[in-house]
Amino acid sequence: MRPQLTPYPTGGTYWQRLRWAAHIARHEPLQFEVGRDISEACRAAVRAEVEARKAHRHEPLRWVELWRPQCPTCIDWTWPMDVEKGGVLNAEGKPAGMPRPGSNGLRVMGVTLEHLGGGRYRCPSCGYEGEHTSQRDVLQAFLVSTAAVFMMLGSNRSSKTFLGSVAGAMTAMGAEHPAVAEMLARNGLDAGRLNTGPAFVQTGSITYGDALTYLRPRYDLLLPRDWTRRSWDSQNDGAAFAPGSGIGRPGCVLSKTTSGAQPEARWQGASSPLIHNDEDHGNLKVFQEQEARVADQGGRILFTATPTKGKSPVMVDALFRDPPRSAGMVDRYRLDALDNPMIDGAAIRRWFAGMTEKQRMVRRFARFVRLEGLVHEGFDRSVHVVPALPLSEMRDWPRVDGCDFGFRAPFAYVWMAIDPHGTVHVYRCRYQARTDTDDHALEILRMESCPHCWPGDHLAADPGRWWDEKEAAAAGCTHCEGTGRLWEEPYGRFADPADATARNRMGYLGISMQPADKARRRGFELCDRALQVEDGRPGVVFHDHPSVAPLIAEIEELAWKDDDASRRSQLKESVEMQVVGADHAWDAWRYGMMGAAAMHLVEYATEPDT
Ligand SMILES: [Zn+2]
Ligand SMILES: [Zn+2]
Repeated sequence: MRPQLTPYPTGGTYWQRLRWAAHIARHEPLQFEVGRDISEACRAAVRAEVEARKAHRHEPLRWVELWRPQCPTCIDWTWPMDVEKGGVLNAEGKPAGMPRPGSNGLRVMGVTLEHLGGGRYRCPSCGYEGEHTSQRDVLQAFLVSTAAVFMMLGSNRSSKTFLGSVAGAMTAMGAEHPAVAEMLARNGLDAGRLNTGPAFVQTGSITYGDALTYLRPRYDLLLPRDWTRRSWDSQNDGAAFAPGSGIGRPGCVLSKTTSGAQPEARWQGASSPLIHNDEDHGNLKVFQEQEARVADQGGRILFTATPTKGKSPVMVDALFRDPPRSAGMVDRYRLDALDNPMIDGAAIRRWFAGMTEKQRMVRRFARFVRLEGLVHEGFDRSVHVVPALPLSEMRDWPRVDGCDFGFRAPFAYVWMAIDPHGTVHVYRCRYQARTDTDDHALEILRMESCPHCWPGDHLAADPGRWWDEKEAAAAGCTHCEGTGRLWEEPYGRFADPADATARNRMGYLGISMQPADKARRRGFELCDRALQVEDGRPGVVFHDHPSVAPLIAEIEELAWKDDDASRRSQLKESVEMQVVGADHAWDAWRYGMMGAAAMHLVEYATEPDT
């Protein structure tokens, strides 16, 4: 393949500029094209790199290039290729990149995407935009984060363990270490909150076998070669420390485990600015000890994990507390193996393609989806989540709503309409904690009302007057033909019967609610039946509207407390129906479904009462 001259990567990292220079230096025709001065500068840059590598060969962290997502179509021709071996290779000499249009089947690297903010990236060459993940950007987020717990989630091939080891090695060495400073500069990273001097870092693997297989080899690739290794290759605690340092002192990485007899006892004692756990150990006592170890230094706990355990007690405590931890306590970032250009892109795509949807959710998207013991095992995003229909297409459909009160836990209100085939459409949801009943009432009405003749927010001051004003304003409104509404009044609004005070207050404000049938097992069975597909149609669908997302997430993640199905059926209903995970919107949905069934608006056969 003929070498191609690509534009100089202005604004790129040192690595991109070095690759450009090496590309010119490698190909004589290109040297001719760019002219003598530039080609000489390129060759000088390559010579300087070779010299630097010789001079600092004992500090491998210097040469770490963190990956960033690449354009799926535009090719970056500056990456060296081995045509015999099918294209680009990574630093370990294994296949990397993937074939792209115009590469004649060779694996090539794509043009590096620019970060637009959030998860959005754009190709500077063709303008392509998409959601991606970036190893470099996750490390930058870690460096500036003030969170006490930092989650780097992703599949094995996303290189999250390696990235966590980079964070650990940098912390142990300190920002002023020349190797750390150079690595930051080469990747265009800001040191952020990274400690300036050396520090004591502890790592947790689930077993010593895991430590020897995964974590210690990665730290080994990064820590200076002249650091002493102590019991590093043994099935025991292992340490690596700088010359003049020692175990437990600044400039040391201590590798321990989080399982075995009384594992929490192993985490008592010395404090650290950073504890790096590789994979979710799931042990709440260990986690609490670890939190205590980093607390007095204002340090943090880093997890690099694929959430194959679903919502373990540790993950629930860190991420899914109900009510949630205060904002900023926990940061959560994700790496997608499909964004990792340093592995064989085609092979990893085949690997994901061979999985079930749920396995893929965990493995690729690092979602906290349990694979067993789910309340609604039949729920499938690709079947049950549909594009949101315009309101005009749902005109005249009967409507039934469900409501679950809450203050510390979220208040949930679910709007549902039933289409002519009998399929229930959940089209809107309100999900909000720490708000009083009056505000919920106002927001429910705002959601349902024509915005053009809205009388104002003074509902609670004098509900009678407010409703009179609303009716008067609607009468002259050309947008809603005098109804004052965006959709029809529901046949019923079914709310948690336990909270009569809130229900009465809603009624006083003009939203009349009926007590819902709370029978948990029948409600669950009704909802689960509705999820089944008959004649190619599920009994319930959820509109892909942002407001509905919390309900979808609850249904997807809700699991039985006792996930042994055979044992569960022998338990009393109150015990049997216990769930783990948030169930607020699920309750509201269930109340609405039970109401719809009671009004004979839906017909899924349920077990008769016994
Ligand atoms: Zn492009
Ligand atoms: Zn109107």
